[in-house]
Amino acid sequence: MTARYTYEDRLRDHYQAYQLLKRNLRITFVKEIIKTISQNDLRNIYRLIHQKKPLSGQIPLVTAIPQSRESFLYLALFGSLYQCTSQVDPKSQIDVSALVFAWDLFCKTFPTHIREKRPYGKIRPANFNEAWVIAQGIRQGLVELQYCTSCRHNYVIIHRNRFRPVCQICELEKIKKNSKHSFLS
Ligand SMILES: [Zn+2]
Repeated sequence: MTARYTYEDRLRDHYQAYQLLKRNLRITFVKEIIKTISQNDLRNIYRLIHQKKPLSGQIPLVTAIPQSRESFLYLALFGSLYQCTSQVDPKSQIDVSALVFAWDLFCKTFPTHIREKRPYGKIRPANFNEAWVIAQGIRQGLVELQYCTSCRHNYVIIHRNRFRPVCQICELEKIKKNSKHSFLS
């Protein structure tokens, strides 16, 4: 049985699809939340906006996003922006408007950082697809935002990632102190 959608449903979906595709979100991700527009039509909308074919290739894995400790600092900022803005429990569903808002604010804070192709810099999420998988990770419990009582900052942990689940701000401080110490001795 096909679901019946109202005119408002379709209008809302078209607006949201436009917002997401404009920011280069993969069709697979857009399709997860947009029910009233076919995959083909989404591809056509993408082509109209960007004058090129939608992105293809590997979908980013949240566990593989941070390649350096510094990336966790940016991820914590982005995660905090998203969680503070979200009107729903981000552990139960993705708040699309909050995600768009957090991403735009993040981009304003770090202009010209967006990379659609590798190599990516330390500033992560590097693009809106990474931002999306982080929001997905929060929903799935793979990504968690915690508060560090030592440095009094939010920090991000990503389960099944190669970094230990600790505050990376404090870790970086420790490493800095240790390297200074070994330099002096
Ligand atoms: Zn800390």
